[in-house]
Amino acid sequence: MKVVKFGGSSLASAEQFAKVGKIIRADKTRRYVVPSAPGKRHNKDTKVTDMLYKCYGLAEADEDFRVLLMKIKDRYDSIINGLNLRVNLEEEFKVISKNFKEKIGEDYAASRGEYLNGIVMAAYLGYKFIDAAEVILFDEDGNLKLEETLKVLRARLEETPNAVVPGFYGSKPDGSIKTFSRGGSDITGSIVARAVHASLYENWTDVSGCLVADPRIIDNPVPIDVITYRELRELSYMGASVLHEDAIFPVRKAGIPINIKNTNAPEDPGTLIVESTVTKPSYTITGIAGKKGFVAVNIDKDMMNGEVGFCRKVLQAFEENDISIEHMPSGIDTMTVFVHQDEFKEREQQIIGSIRHKVDPDIIDMEGDLALVAVVGRGMKSTRGTAGRIFSALAHSKINVKMIDQGSSELNIIIGVSNSDFEDAIKAIYDIFVETRL
Ligand code: ASP
Repeated sequence: MKVVKFGGSSLASAEQFAKVGKIIRADKTRRYVVPSAPGKRHNKDTKVTDMLYKCYGLAEADEDFRVLLMKIKDRYDSIINGLNLRVNLEEEFKVISKNFKEKIGEDYAASRGEYLNGIVMAAYLGYKFIDAAEVILFDEDGNLKLEETLKVLRARLEETPNAVVPGFYGSKPDGSIKTFSRGGSDITGSIVARAVHASLYENWTDVSGCLVADPRIIDNPVPIDVITYRELRELSYMGASVLHEDAIFPVRKAGIPINIKNTNAPEDPGTLIVESTVTKPSYTITGIAGKKGFVAVNIDKDMMNGEVGFCRKVLQAFEENDISIEHMPSGIDTMTVFVHQDEFKEREQQIIGSIRHKVDPDIIDMEGDLALVAVVGRGMKSTRGTAGRIFSALAHSKINVKMIDQGSSELNIIIGVSNSDFEDAIKAIYDIFVETRL
């Protein structure tokens, strides 16, 4: 049995709905469907969720929100009419309008995108509609109550062979609506998959899986066929956007793989995300990702190495200023701390002052505008010379490497370069492993 989640661009219009219908009907085991709200139909379009946030903002400011609300209704009506469905959302929109007037809450407003799309989807497929407010449960503070949710959801779905459960929201004990953070329909899909012990969680989007590198930097990067949860976590953390971060946990625990698939090219295999695999990655590396905007704080002090507690005191200066640390390469009498530039810059002088006070260093200097590039791959462990190839590729491209960090798991190598070398560094690494398959 499969649980299928469709993203906003897969459900943006009647044409897209028709593709989704074909996909679901092609496989009887696709029994539970989690839709997002209608997304963008083209580059300049606006997602229904964003329209709802804006519309509710007007309601809260006591401005006229009805024109925008009717525009949202038009989005649904064009889907309903395009599919020749006999669904009428008139009453639903009356209720929404009344609730907006009463300023019921932003989460309620945002959740209506998925709620209404769920109603339309259920009518289109002839599946039962289950309001997520009844089965996805949060506590008073807005934290998901996973165990209780699984229990309630399982009981409901056991008696329903096919159902549509809208993504992105649930309810608190007082009945008020609570959403996950943006992109949260991925989490709902994962929870539903876990509740019904699905054999696979299919996450349908508009790309043929996770890509080896960012398509804004590399033209037509190749997709990744199989990736482990740990690799995915490393790549997502470094900026590759594939799935909502919190979507991994529910299925990972139950050993359910996720298949990222493309609604516009359903025959493409997409990317399979698994706990572990003996499948060798197609290239030595699985993926490359990175982020700009870091600062390196270098601290030098003669005989630092012999001073017990030195690192702790330096790190405390960051902790006391609520700054999280990204990496910490060190030498005998020097240590460097990598932090996010935007966070750090606001507390810069306090932190420097505090380090001086705590450890009395000989020199503190800083270098900003740095980028980190992560080269991730389970294949690196069993391959010799990966680091050598990375650094010779960077040297050939005349890129100065400012920091190197390889975790003991040998799952990734992190390289620090200037912000201005970021794109070239990714291109050089992609070329050497993928284009020339060295
Ligand atoms: N519609 C919501 C958003 O735009 C949730 C989702 O699509 O997953 O963030």
